[in-house]
Amino acid sequence: MKTSIRKAIHQVDVLLAPFMLSAFKEQNAFTSFLFHALFQNKEELALNLADPQQQVTVDVFRRFVEYHLEKGYTFVSPTDVLKGLDPDKKSILITFDDGYYNNLRALPVMEEFQVPALFFISANHVLKGKAFWWDVVYREGKKAGRSDEAILEEKAHLLTLTDEEVDKHLIRTYGEHCLKPVSDTDRPLTSAELRTFSEHPLVYIGNHTCDHAVLTNYTSAGMREQIAQAQDILEDMIGYRPASIAYPCGEYNEDVLRATQEEGIVLGITTNHAKNAYPSLSDPKTMLTLNRFTIWGTEDLQGQCDFYRSDYHLLDSMRGIYHKLKPSAKV
Ligand SMILES: [Zn+2]
Repeated sequence: MKTSIRKAIHQVDVLLAPFMLSAFKEQNAFTSFLFHALFQNKEELALNLADPQQQVTVDVFRRFVEYHLEKGYTFVSPTDVLKGLDPDKKSILITFDDGYYNNLRALPVMEEFQVPALFFISANHVLKGKAFWWDVVYREGKKAGRSDEAILEEKAHLLTLTDEEVDKHLIRTYGEHCLKPVSDTDRPLTSAELRTFSEHPLVYIGNHTCDHAVLTNYTSAGMREQIAQAQDILEDMIGYRPASIAYPCGEYNEDVLRATQEEGIVLGITTNHAKNAYPSLSDPKTMLTLNRFTIWGTEDLQGQCDFYRSDYHLLDSMRGIYHKLKPSAKV
């Protein structure tokens, strides 16, 4: 299905969601949400110190938590998920990927509402105090006056490489100091900060590989190393080996799942936008490929949350019809 048509149907689905929610009872399920950097406010975003990503501010995060509490959701920890969730409830897990220092800003909100969150850490970024490559590309691109399209194009190319290839490209293009963070906005947590953070009763830590590796770009040995070394480094920092992983950029395959299982990781999270049905959680493989929604600070928060909560979407049914008509079409 063409992107423009899909976008138009999605917009109709967003508009219809509140009506669908009042017409049909929302089914109980386990829902997970993905956040990355947490910006203080729009002014900080405008400094161009880091890739704005989803442009989520502390205020958006706070309203997100309030919304779901109002709708009767129970915020759960990864430990709760592993113990088994109550199928009579609507459960929700907050996750933050990458290991930004600015994620500490989530803590006052978490404490105020007593909600846990799972933070997936790219281990070597913390260990080495290294900037994330997408922030380097954005910051240097903006400084050089490049267009957003050109920046996006470079990012798309780097997503196809290994971390070593990415670093080589960045150093060759932007100089050897480009991988040093420039501020508290773009820097990862330090090892000491991560240790203290991890001791908070509402904070849970997960694996996000050693070097934010898009695992499907690696050989079997390479992906194993990325997962296993991250476990070792994180254990050194926080005192335990994480039981969970978020695959960087949501990319995984059968090899990745095998390597994950071999490391004793039992909870794996992707970026597939869907709820998780309770019966599916009894399957260990499903537990390694859990779905997760993304929130955008650039879009109406209530509209997004209503859309994700609604179990009836035109796009799903039209996609089904389209597949039947044209089974080989990519949508
Ligand atoms: Zn990531």
